[in-house]
Amino acid sequence: MNSIERVQAAIDLRKPDRVPVDLHNFQPAAAAMGVSMAEVFQDGELLAEAMLRAWQQFGHDMILLENGTACNAQACGVEVIYRDDAAPAAHVPVIKSLEEVDKLQVPDPETAFPMCEIIKATRILAREIGDRVWICGRADQGPMDLASQLIGMDTLLLEIALGEKPELIHRLLDFAREVATRYAFALIDAGAHSTSIGEPIAGPDVISPRHYREYAFPHEKRMVDDLKKKGIILHNHICGNTIPIIEDFIATGAQVLEIDHKTDLRKAKEAGRGKTCFLGPINTTLMAEGTPEQVEEACREAIEIMAPDSGFILGPGCALGPETPPENIQALVESARKYGVYH
Ligand SMILES: [Zn+2]
Repeated sequence: MNSIERVQAAIDLRKPDRVPVDLHNFQPAAAAMGVSMAEVFQDGELLAEAMLRAWQQFGHDMILLENGTACNAQACGVEVIYRDDAAPAAHVPVIKSLEEVDKLQVPDPETAFPMCEIIKATRILAREIGDRVWICGRADQGPMDLASQLIGMDTLLLEIALGEKPELIHRLLDFAREVATRYAFALIDAGAHSTSIGEPIAGPDVISPRHYREYAFPHEKRMVDDLKKKGIILHNHICGNTIPIIEDFIATGAQVLEIDHKTDLRKAKEAGRGKTCFLGPINTTLMAEGTPEQVEEACREAIEIMAPDSGFILGPGCALGPETPPENIQALVESARKYGVYH
């Protein structure tokens, strides 16, 4: 099997020859370019080159392509700060109150910065290596996460807690979902094999499971449904312990659920068996600060729990930090080959 067949099998819940492996490595890949990360993250050609070099070095099965957690927000007018040694960060919200939601306009991904640069990078990677490696063009952020950046996280969380304007909250989420959906279509058109949304603030570490069900879930599910109608595969990424929402998380219908080390793997496997493909969950702090032996042991354990009956892609649980040693990345990729073979 080649990488694309291997990933496709895992997502289809068929047994591949071995567990596929992804890298969530846009930061270390950019850091290795020898120019400021701010430059790489605003230039599609440089970003593609960074991801290409990393793939040549490590030979992973799946590339997760993005420039951080503020792409959609910036395209919608949020002020974003680019840093020399880290991913960009959303800084100043574009609206101050829910009542302003109708002022927002869905950006055209082909022209709106920086979406247009990520699309450019997707086209380059698809042309160069798209027949040999799975490219997930990430339509980050998801409805809940983008909504929090558009209005400011404190304001959104306060409005959710007050619960006095559910219709306006849903209108903001509708808008955010439309932004991510349109971007997702554009990334697939540019040659990505799958796409994704990140929803860290939708997780139980930030909002209650009841609020996840009420606000995040319907929009994530609607986005999955809209993409599925066109045969598009969506990953849903929620950081932290997702067990309190695992049934709803699975019920979004996303073909891939990205989880990190805080989620109990046995419980997740039990809940998701035969329903979805999990991706993750190796601790990014361990990846940055541990030894290759420790990384290998964590991978072995994750494979042992998650790999049986397929539906598993090994990778970091979240974005790798820029300082992650290449030896640890190599250990992760090698572990899939060493421990992930299906018989
Ligand atoms: Zn995460």
